[in-house]
Amino acid sequence: MTTSTGSSQERRVHVPLVGRAYDILIGPGLITKAGGEISSRLKGRRAAIITDEHVAPLYLDMIMDSLQTDGIEAVSLTLPAGEKTKSFEHYMAVCDLILEARIESNDAVIALGGGVIGDLAGFAAGTVRRGVRFVQIPTSLLAQVDSSVGGKTGINTRHGKNLVGVFHQPDLVLADSSVLDTLSKREFRAGYAEVVKYGLIDKPDFFEWLEKNWQEVFAGGQARIEAIATSCQAKSDVVVEDEFENGRRALLNLGHTFGHALEAATEYDSKRLVHGEGVAIGTVLAHQFSSRLNLASPDGAKRVEAHLKAVGLPVSMHEIPGTLPPVETLMAAIAQDKKVKSGKLTFILTHGIGQSFVADNVAASEVESFLKEKHPG
Ligand code: NAD
Repeated sequence: MTTSTGSSQERRVHVPLVGRAYDILIGPGLITKAGGEISSRLKGRRAAIITDEHVAPLYLDMIMDSLQTDGIEAVSLTLPAGEKTKSFEHYMAVCDLILEARIESNDAVIALGGGVIGDLAGFAAGTVRRGVRFVQIPTSLLAQVDSSVGGKTGINTRHGKNLVGVFHQPDLVLADSSVLDTLSKREFRAGYAEVVKYGLIDKPDFFEWLEKNWQEVFAGGQARIEAIATSCQAKSDVVVEDEFENGRRALLNLGHTFGHALEAATEYDSKRLVHGEGVAIGTVLAHQFSSRLNLASPDGAKRVEAHLKAVGLPVSMHEIPGTLPPVETLMAAIAQDKKVKSGKLTFILTHGIGQSFVADNVAASEVESFLKEKHPG
């Protein structure tokens, strides 16, 4: 369960991993308290902040001031915004900064930004000196409800997304709900696709709550905090049960196999598609595919499509601007993303709303013919 902290609006989700337990604090104004929250948990007094060019002008000074007040000496590196920053080139730049700043194991690397910065900074934190302490200050909705929790870090390669990385849990996550006010509507919607995902995995009541309350979540205030806290709790529960993805954690990939293939197909060009939009289309496809395989009734897929459409997310490949590569190219990306054994793929499928499961024997030929139906041609 999530717990209230001192402030009536604040929530705390505890991630009880043995030997590496940490808190996720959720609420307005947490950025200005970063110094106090970090210094009370970490012994080191140095920090390297990694951020991007959109977030830095808005929040970097606030964090620097807060760290300085609490006696933490910090340096920072501002990187270009966008998926392409999750690269070897920027990984090297982050490692250099950490080493130049003489960050040691009890000091902190701080990721201030969306999932791109969190994944990249976390990978550097997990590998420099074989691991230094890591604090996530996620500033996008997607990062607050998903990528900042659970310790998956990594970068992309020309072979696909997230193919080089390590598990490295953060020591603290500070999810300041008010920073989401500066996030573009498009990025907020994209992150919302991951919120919906938790309902669709195994929380049908949460999905129903979102269908009724999504406007309040978008507007901000307590509904937003509750949606973030419920999502973080759901992610924490899965991670604690299966930290290294030997089983249940794979459920968090609902919609992602199709989604990642679409991101690769659009060459990670955020003008055409951002991660959460790929997840939204992928989630609808996963529900439609389950119904096509007679695992679920078509009503569930229609309900998911209707909700994602209502909030303004894309729900089909037809909505992606520009020309998509042929289905064969999408299949190659799917094969790279998921293990293929004797023509069988692992997919997250569903028996209906909130009844997702891991299917490890999906015929590649079934996926291919389904995609041929859905492809804009
Ligand atoms: P992102 O980091 O690119 O952020 C989206 C955009 O919003 C960027 O332009 C960023 O500069 C801007 N932004 C962020 N916060 C802002 C704010 N408060 N105000 C104004 N602008 C702001 O993308 P994302 O959607 O946050 O994350 C996507 C990444 O997360 C992908 O690389 C994906 O693979 C990864 N991911 C990782 C995990 C994991 O478990 N590690 C889980 C899900 C997704």
